[in-house]
Amino acid sequence: MTHVFISVDMEGIAGVATPAQVHRGTDDYERSRALMAGEVNAAIEGAYAGGATRVTVNDGHGDNANLRPEELDTRATLLMGQPKLAGGMMAGAQDAHIALLIGYHAAAGTTGAVLDHTVSGGAFARIRVDGEVWGEADVNAAIAAQFGTPIGLVTGDDKVCRSFASRYPLGPHAMALTVDVKASLGNGVIHSLHPEVARERIQIAAEAAVTRVAAATADTRPEPPAPHSLRATLRRTAQADHCMLVPGTVRASAYDVEYACTDALELRNMLKLFSITAAAA
Ligand SMILES: [Zn+2]
Repeated sequence: MTHVFISVDMEGIAGVATPAQVHRGTDDYERSRALMAGEVNAAIEGAYAGGATRVTVNDGHGDNANLRPEELDTRATLLMGQPKLAGGMMAGAQDAHIALLIGYHAAAGTTGAVLDHTVSGGAFARIRVDGEVWGEADVNAAIAAQFGTPIGLVTGDDKVCRSFASRYPLGPHAMALTVDVKASLGNGVIHSLHPEVARERIQIAAEAAVTRVAAATADTRPEPPAPHSLRATLRRTAQADHCMLVPGTVRASAYDVEYACTDALELRNMLKLFSITAAAA
């Protein structure tokens, strides 16, 4: 029995470059939904070819209701809507044997990265955890570690793939492959593979990742979680003022607030809570 979990975002999908493509209400967005489904279906196909017996998909972009259920491979089940309290983009990974991150993008503040942001582009200029700049892939890798679920594959633009591969090199506790589906040339500029080529590469990599975890004899579970010190740099001082309404929050500067998290799940919840609070400012 191999349960494969797939977390999917939209900014790192092949052919997606501009804000209009990732925001509901535009004709571009409707096409992005189909592009997103295409890459998810490629990952599902690869997962089953690699030995999966169950696949759970978590739609993690925007309102978390981008994937049209009828467009998905019938063998998978879909988690949609928000807020997903038990892990956000990783909710559903708790009892999975491997997690695949599809359509991911670089951390807020990454130079030359397409649509770079962390959780909320409107709220956060940068997120640091334990002194390091973290993006959504890093937050979700920490949540996966807390669940004891290894990350098997990250796909997206070249910047997120390079960051993930350098931060979590292949080893006994980390086994993520990466697939760049596009090169980022700026915040709104990409040099992309054709969607069908991207899907072929994702399918092959997903099969390889799932085959590896299904055949693993050694313990591939990630390192146990640790407490995390969160520092959020808001875009406006009024947003930082509002975040101070959250009990336990410390003001570190005009734009920065800090919070001591007991684990990665609390870190994810605090990012969500700060972003909601900042939106009221
Ligand atoms: Zn997104």
